[in-house]
Amino acid sequence: MKINKVLIANRGEIACRIIKTCREMGINTVAVYSEADEYALHVHLADEAIDIGPAPASESYLVHDNIIRAAQESGADAIHPGYGFLSENHEFNKKVRDAGLIFIGPEPEAMRVLGSKVESRIKMMESGVPVVPGMKSSEKNIDEFIKTANEIGYPVLIKASAGGGGKGMRIVKSPEDIEEAVNSAMRESQSAFGSDEIFLEKYIESPRHIEIQVARDHHGNAVHFFERECSIQRRHQKVIEETPSTALTDEKRKEMGEAAIKAVEAVNYDSVATVEFLFDKDSNFYFLEVNTRIQVEHPITELVTNVDLVKLQIRIAEGNEIGIKQEEIIQNGHALECRLYAEDPENNFMPSTGKIHFLSEPIGNGVRIDSGIKEGDEISVYYDPIMSKLITWGRNREESISRMDNALRNYVILGVKNPIPFMLKVIRDQDFIDGNTLTDFIDKKPSLLEIDRNEFLNEIAYIASQVNNLKEQKISFNKNSDVWQEIGNWEICTGK
Ligand code: ADP
Ligand code: ADP
Ligand code: MG
Repeated sequence: MKINKVLIANRGEIACRIIKTCREMGINTVAVYSEADEYALHVHLADEAIDIGPAPASESYLVHDNIIRAAQESGADAIHPGYGFLSENHEFNKKVRDAGLIFIGPEPEAMRVLGSKVESRIKMMESGVPVVPGMKSSEKNIDEFIKTANEIGYPVLIKASAGGGGKGMRIVKSPEDIEEAVNSAMRESQSAFGSDEIFLEKYIESPRHIEIQVARDHHGNAVHFFERECSIQRRHQKVIEETPSTALTDEKRKEMGEAAIKAVEAVNYDSVATVEFLFDKDSNFYFLEVNTRIQVEHPITELVTNVDLVKLQIRIAEGNEIGIKQEEIIQNGHALECRLYAEDPENNFMPSTGKIHFLSEPIGNGVRIDSGIKEGDEISVYYDPIMSKLITWGRNREESISRMDNALRNYVILGVKNPIPFMLKVIRDQDFIDGNTLTDFIDKKPSLLEIDRNEFLNEIAYIASQVNNLKEQKISFNKNSDVWQEIGNWEICTGK
């Protein structure tokens, strides 16, 4: 069935990203917004916008009925959930379908199984996809945790079956710490994910995170779009991603691609998905989980394979065949993404709130920005603090890195703390340049977190020139405060 109007049940950069593809496809768009987002960029970009409630997500972006009603009232025939929020909620998915609407994503049962790390591990073991050694079920009994940990050996990792966004994990290094870790993990999982199902697996030391983008349609056609390496992480959440990975041989790449397709075939999957793996020092790979939605870092795959993954997702939801053969998908060049969260790397990556006083985005060959912000926006406490993603493409890794370096230096965000100087330090680090990227990269290099302003004199000069420009525009600040204080994050961005 042809989709003519899509309601985007999301906000920020991903809502803006989805709207762009819909426009390109001639599909009308309906934005939804909370009271905090009345003037947000996604509201401006969409053809229509509907108020769905107060600022807290639990009273707006997460309210199933409000969103479904908005879709019905606006005459939308489909809902795109983006990532986060309701994107992996199989009950919402089912309600959308029961209301006679198309859900742009997999059918609810596949989403349910893959949403449980425990159930999906069992499915993968049955299908011959290698998983991290560990429990075969979720457990409440502490003796089972102790027994499994003794069998597989310490360190072990306790994880929430329903976990996501890097939340709810506990590394346990010795038997005396296990009981306390199990109890606190259970409590945390209950409050974060509404389920106290936890399990234990081997903690793989210093692996890489390598994932495979796949797509499968209702007709049983399945392809993969190669890998993304997402090893640069803080708090188990990715901050820089790249493709191709420096760690894969063509043979390994093919093997992982085939394993990823096997993983989605195991649940009769019918949309785009990402199959995540850990990759150890001996080039063994282990299944982690499947993300049943569009992923934050999908643009790097788009730049290297020249496919629009949101368009593909919509086309599959309409019932079409993928229409691309595996052998037609090639990796051309290299792409890199930096996630720009409103957060402070110098202070344990604490989220930062405030008004964006000034914004200047870089342009140039091979530069893509997926942004959800504009000047004057308020970054609030209510939502995930991602502001935008800076993505660069180059004919090879050196070129995408040097384009990223240039683009980061010309990206100015004043008013909230941001990781631009930190990102520059990472991509200039010799181990990063050499491709020695492991998931503990940031943890092992505390000096990356100390921003010395002398290292960034050129960048400061650039920002100062932009700020002069800002003054000429006579953008007014609160009379009682000093302009330099209002844009005080100019100082914070570049260190003290
Ligand atoms: P990706 O898996 O796409 O690389 P993340 O792990 O950063 O990205 O998660 C994507 C987004 O979804 C983030 O905004 C994160 O906060 C949010 N998120 C992921 N899983 C959950 C979850 N289970 N509950 C709530 N938010 C989640
Ligand atoms: P989430 O649902 O939060 O994305 P994942 O299982 O995908 O959780 O893991 C997120 C990150 O946590 C991985 O990329 C990796 O850095 C770390 N991690 C997860 N499981 C393990 C493990 N068994 N050993 C080592 N690191 C792990
Ligand atoms: Mg994950």
